[in-house]
Amino acid sequence: MKRRDFLGFAAAGSLAGLAGCAANAPSKARVVVVGGGFGGATAAKYIRMWDPKIDVVLVERDPSFVSCPISNLVLAGFTGMEDITRSIDGLERYGVRVVHDEVTAIDAAKKSVRLARGGEIGYERLVVSPGIDFTFGEVQGFEQAMQSGRVLHAWKAGAQTVALRQQLEQMRDGGVYVLSIPLAPYRCPPGPYERASVVAAYFKQAKPRSKVLVLDANPDVSSKGPLFKRAWSDLYPGIIEYRGNARAVAVDGASMTVRLEVEDVKGDVLNVVPPHRAGDVAVKAGLITTNNRWCDVDWRTMESKAVKGVHVLGDATLSAPAMPKSASMANNHAKIAAGAIVDLLNGREPQPLKIINTCYSFVSRTEGIRVSSVHEWDPGQGTLIAVKGSGGVSAARSEAEGNYAWSWARTIWADSLA
Ligand SMILES: Cc1cc2nc3c(=O)[nH]c(=O)nc-3n(C[C@H](O)[C@H](O)[C@H](O)COP(=O)(O)OP(=O)(O)OC[C@H]3O[C@@H](n4cnc5c(N)ncnc54)[C@H](O)[C@@H]3O)c2cc1C
Repeated sequence: MKRRDFLGFAAAGSLAGLAGCAANAPSKARVVVVGGGFGGATAAKYIRMWDPKIDVVLVERDPSFVSCPISNLVLAGFTGMEDITRSIDGLERYGVRVVHDEVTAIDAAKKSVRLARGGEIGYERLVVSPGIDFTFGEVQGFEQAMQSGRVLHAWKAGAQTVALRQQLEQMRDGGVYVLSIPLAPYRCPPGPYERASVVAAYFKQAKPRSKVLVLDANPDVSSKGPLFKRAWSDLYPGIIEYRGNARAVAVDGASMTVRLEVEDVKGDVLNVVPPHRAGDVAVKAGLITTNNRWCDVDWRTMESKAVKGVHVLGDATLSAPAMPKSASMANNHAKIAAGAIVDLLNGREPQPLKIINTCYSFVSRTEGIRVSSVHEWDPGQGTLIAVKGSGGVSAARSEAEGNYAWSWARTIWADSLA
């Protein structure tokens, strides 16, 4: 039997057993986790590590995990998809039951989730970490242009990362790569500026007459601004052009045009990142509380403010003040939720945790920059706030920070997924 057949059989077999339990209460407390990305995989693993009596089922629709962190280096041709692709099946060694399927509905009254391939799984507590989906309608014509393959976002690492890399390779020397950034909040505040930097590094080496045109809906570079701008003027003069307050309202794949509020811009490769909201399953489950986009939570437990017994993690949350949507934060949210769930299922009062964000960006093939912050529970404000005087940014870009960026990525992949 091939490995793939074996995994398919194992998943179907375990699912049959789980579905049989749905009507009855689990024999020991069961936690179901929806989404095996940075938030969900970490939560599943840590619940099992901190209390092996709890039955944990992780439902992930994709066959393997593809990391957004480091994916910009794939676009630049500095690393390959194999370096950012991992299996989550290794979590089974902690006793996590991994089911490769999609959750299509959540019934909070019945405490069960429904799976696309049929069947339901009952739970005592549910963790939802679905990442983001896009509000495509805010950029007129985007969906049609994306379906034709002419315009891509590549803001979920995977097939679009590969396709955008191909477009950049096929672009003529002297062409224009247009990167359109939505209004914040979006996942990974420095991610677009890292993308502009490393694509410029690729152009400088492979097609030096080409340009990177950054159209930012925000007024200015919204993360590590002075460090990015310094790298752009030192390393890529004449290659990167940055325009703030340049929000894309429409896109046309036939004429390769991005329409801004006041003008039209043409390019050879159009990389338009539409505005985001919490992943679809959060919408279907009634977890959205704010601006039709995000899920507010109690930051001591990550429990939803809309639906009891459901904990929401990662990019899908309504961010606490000064908190970015990052893999680092999703991994930390997961540890808050895992600790709280273990406490609650053992009759203990959960205690608030202090958490840390660290976010590296490459500005060239080898040089990196960093931003970090510490967030703690403030009982007066009832949320996590950034600790005054903590964190900060790199003094300057360096190869040492680039090496730390790779170490950070390998460490968080291992902590979340292995
Ligand atoms: C280009 C780029 C670069 C980045 N670089 C960094 C970086 O350097 N550092 C950093 O900290 N962050 C970085 N990020 C941000 C980081 O990737 C996200 O913040 C992080 O992935 C959020 O984790 P999550 O668990 O919320 O969502 P995800 O990691 O996206 O996981 C969500 C998972 O849920 C699954 N899922 C969704 N719905 C269902 C369903 N109904 N049923 C089953 N499964 C479902 C999805 O398939 C997915 O696997 C970057 C992002 C981008 C786009």
